[in-house]
Amino acid sequence: MVEEGAVQRSLFQGGSLRVDLEADGIAVVVFDRPGESVNKFDSQTVAELAAAAAAIATDQSVRGVLVTSGKSVFIVGADIFEFVSQFSQPQSAIRTHVSKQNEAFSAFANLPVPTATLINGLALGGGFEMALATDARILSAHAQVGLPEVSLGLFPGFGGTVRLPRLVGHGNAIDWICSGRQQNSARALAVGAVDEVVAPDALLEAGYARLRGMIESGDWRQKRIKRGGPFDLDPAAASAARSKLARTAALQPAAMAAVELLDRAAGIEVGPALELEASAFAQIARTQAASAMIQLFVNDQQLRKRARAYARAARRVERAAVLGAGIMGGGIAFTSASRGVPIVMKDIAQKQLDAGMAEADRLLGRQVETKRLTGEQAREVRQAIDPTLDYQRFNAVQVVVEAVVENLEVKKRVLAEVERHVHPETIIASNTSSLSISALAQSLERPENFAGMHFFNPVPAMPLVEIIRGPQTGDDAVATVVAYASMMGKTPVVVRECPGFLVNRILTPYMFGFLRAVADGADYQQVDHVMEEFGWPMGPAHLQDVIGMDTLDHVLEVISAGYPARMRMDFPNGVRALVEKNRLGQKSGSGWYRYESDASGKRLKLADPALEPILGTLRAKGRGAITDTEILNRLMLPLMLEAVLCLSERIVETPAEVDSSLVLGLGFPRHVGGPLKYIDWLGAAEVVRLCDSLSFLGPLYAPPTLLRENARKGISFYPSGSAA
Ligand code: NAD
Repeated sequence: MVEEGAVQRSLFQGGSLRVDLEADGIAVVVFDRPGESVNKFDSQTVAELAAAAAAIATDQSVRGVLVTSGKSVFIVGADIFEFVSQFSQPQSAIRTHVSKQNEAFSAFANLPVPTATLINGLALGGGFEMALATDARILSAHAQVGLPEVSLGLFPGFGGTVRLPRLVGHGNAIDWICSGRQQNSARALAVGAVDEVVAPDALLEAGYARLRGMIESGDWRQKRIKRGGPFDLDPAAASAARSKLARTAALQPAAMAAVELLDRAAGIEVGPALELEASAFAQIARTQAASAMIQLFVNDQQLRKRARAYARAARRVERAAVLGAGIMGGGIAFTSASRGVPIVMKDIAQKQLDAGMAEADRLLGRQVETKRLTGEQAREVRQAIDPTLDYQRFNAVQVVVEAVVENLEVKKRVLAEVERHVHPETIIASNTSSLSISALAQSLERPENFAGMHFFNPVPAMPLVEIIRGPQTGDDAVATVVAYASMMGKTPVVVRECPGFLVNRILTPYMFGFLRAVADGADYQQVDHVMEEFGWPMGPAHLQDVIGMDTLDHVLEVISAGYPARMRMDFPNGVRALVEKNRLGQKSGSGWYRYESDASGKRLKLADPALEPILGTLRAKGRGAITDTEILNRLMLPLMLEAVLCLSERIVETPAEVDSSLVLGLGFPRHVGGPLKYIDWLGAAEVVRLCDSLSFLGPLYAPPTLLRENARKGISFYPSGSAA
């Protein structure tokens, strides 16, 4: 973007940035890595920053420095792919590395001339910390800044915890660092994180003007000295942050550690404060949360790459259709239309169509209320849903998603019927949650054009879609539904057909673990508590109440029938017992818990004495104390082992697909990173030892060959030394 002044000579030329000296003594630093769409701070860029600072510092003709970007963003942050290998080093090595990197930022911050940053687009993490290391910041009105490190289980480590509070005050710094939120220009200006906000096309001029003003007045010196000293504590803000973070700090310690760090660094100068930051950062970089959340980021990139590779072979999807306007069909229609793919929604009942459209109206209304859509945009989305009772417009769609009732015979009939009404190249996908894709395909003339497309409920909110490849499913069909799922804003994961597919298959042994623990005398509330402490959004009893006991009973039966050697319900089945008493969960007002609404309509989850007699019939040996640790192992180990089996049977190809699917589809705790990452964290040998200690619980606790081999050879699922 920098064009203005006449370049006199080059002061520095690196691979990611250059420094040009202009005729009037202004050195312009341009971050612009060739062949990349964004700028980021990898080790090489940091080294170049140090070299650039040295070149500027030693050139007597430089009077001021302007930092800019040659991309549409400023700098999006550190190179997260490098973290994986860096953070597998011992803590002391990480500390040394971070301190060394900080020297580059400090060299820049200590240049003997005034410095200003022009933030033209996103400046996040290390990118924003770069801007903080200069004397002034001028922000384009459309740009955003922020320190999102907590989403990776970290806090800023390039001086952000030191320089931000000295600029915006203790309270604002806590808020920015602990929330990780991106901040718009108005907010950035209001707290003083930037000096000026200007229209995008006025940025350059404003930058030169400000820098020239600073060179002339020399007032930057005073400000710099002040910002190099201590800052005032805001004890109320720190204590509010502590109470807010208290619940999550044990599992995700980064934000709390940042609060502590700020407290300790408030009374000292910038130099020693940077040392404290480096030490604390090295400690936090070695936590389970950082390791897991960084890996999840890397996994997410891998999944996107795979989806893009599939999509290259996809047929164009311009129009879709969905069969069934129920909970799932309605959600699919809304999501497709919202994402720009018009959709025909067919049902056999007008009442259902009306209900489907009413749900779309409700969701659109909410988006208009929260200003995510204008009224006009909402009307356009609504018009892109075409409710119908017949197949008339099915000849013009490229994909049909079947979402009628979960019944093999009904689905087979409906699929055969729809196949007669679509173009021979149209791909048909079933959103079945438990039926066999091969069995459904038997009803079709063109099984190669058929795949599973398993959405999660509620469709608009849930990011994962399992794409099920049956034995007859063609590559075209897989590619096309992957592309369609991506167009809907979802993360598609291609799964080879097996009972339960990937996510529900892995969930089933966990549910078995829970039901067996209850049958062995565990208190279901204690189990919920233990699993919630581990980080699950809700414990298994609560989850079963949400799913609905009848639905779950059916799903457990179908999936376990597919794995008769391992998934044997050879203990009293609590789900079945609740179904028999018509305690179906939230939908019937009681399941494991009893549900009531309070005066404001909020749903309350209550313990129910009426459950006791049912529990009595389940517990063959009466109520027995099982420790929290044993509960955790009884539930988590079978889930982890099923995940290993899915990988070794190549139901999916990579650990990334297993782990991210569980996080996105089930809410598996992010700070643990997924079942395979969890095994890596504990160590395969330790997991085998835990399994062996519970071998009396049967085959669900028997470590698969792959795990035993990994334990013997000391191998992990993820290569700890590289991010690929
Ligand atoms: P639902 O009962 O809410 O909706 C089913 C709809 O299909 C009804 O509106 C019904 O009128 C309609 N229908 C029945 N026969 C039809 C036909 N011949 N042509 C067109 N429409 C017909 O069910 P749902 O919860 O939306 O589930 C639909 C499918 O999605 C099932 O296979 C289910 O297993 C699967 N699924 C459900 C969930 C969930 O949580 N609800 C999650 C994943 C997958």
